[in-house]
Amino acid sequence: MSIVSKDISKAVDLLTAEELVAIPTETVYGLAGNIYSEKAIKSIFETKQRPFFNPLIVHIPSLDYLEKIVAYIPEKGKLLAEAFWPGPITLVLKKKTIIPDIITAGKDTVAVRVPNHPLTLELLNQLDFPLAAPSANPFSSISPTTAEHVETYFMDKIKMVLDGGACKSGIESTIIGFEDDEPIIYRLGSTPIEAIENVVGKIEVKNKKEISPDAPGMLERHYAPKTKTILTRNLSKSIEKHRNKRIGVLMFNDILNDDVIQFKIVLSEGKNLEEAASKLYDALHQLDKQDLDIIIAEQLPDYGLGKSINDRLERATK
Ligand code: AMP
Ligand code: MG
Repeated sequence: MSIVSKDISKAVDLLTAEELVAIPTETVYGLAGNIYSEKAIKSIFETKQRPFFNPLIVHIPSLDYLEKIVAYIPEKGKLLAEAFWPGPITLVLKKKTIIPDIITAGKDTVAVRVPNHPLTLELLNQLDFPLAAPSANPFSSISPTTAEHVETYFMDKIKMVLDGGACKSGIESTIIGFEDDEPIIYRLGSTPIEAIENVVGKIEVKNKKEISPDAPGMLERHYAPKTKTILTRNLSKSIEKHRNKRIGVLMFNDILNDDVIQFKIVLSEGKNLEEAASKLYDALHQLDKQDLDIIIAEQLPDYGLGKSINDRLERATK
């Protein structure tokens, strides 16, 4: 029997019983558990095979809830939360002691956001605890953007995927920490830097693997297909190099036809970066199923969501 269901009250029951439920968000599907249940949280790490040094993002129903779990909010943190929540920005803030150490990998900060998905907001409102919810995929594999992706990964391991359709943003949240009250981007994501700078002014990006394990999304290889994948600025040149292989191509818009291409996916005919982001992981899932020798991915323009997509593609090709 399928574990995919739209039944919120069933999700409430399972989560209250310390079980895991995969939940839809606007970014990717999350593998959710009660933050106060050691059993549930351990089971998240086990199910994903995620190392314990990788802290989890806590999902809360509203900005008002924030003060229950964090000790301090810098002024620019408030501005960001007011501007973008519910939405794909995660803030890393000083935690209150109520947040268990296993959630934060022993750090004195907690990563938190209000997700922008009607079903999951409804679910959070019905629960009397927040949800820890890392992406619902085995550690370092391609993130899930549909209920079916999650089902394929975890059919035998979890009891339910709450079906909220395909994720609209399609890549993970932008993670922002604070140093001396100044915001710093730890992970590029679904909220473009330009939009963030409109609210808080010029912002530094430390989107580097050397800050790992602060942000495991920053590990060098992450979001990766099983098929060998390379990233290129020049598609035709890279295709030329691999002519003797079964080639799959991931391109931004439809710029190229070549008989040697066995399978191709175009992210956005109209060169729309939002559309490209929303299709990215499903495209990688599809390409990975085609029994190819190599996936050749085209680099996107280096602004707005293009930056975040390129970041994911770089990690997918390590
Ligand atoms: P995921 O939910 O798997 O997309 O990843 C959650 C991201 O949030 C990871 O990259 C975490 O390292 C990051 N994160 C969670 N808690 C903290 C924290 N206290 N400090 C810095 N980064 C964090
Ligand atoms: Mg993840």
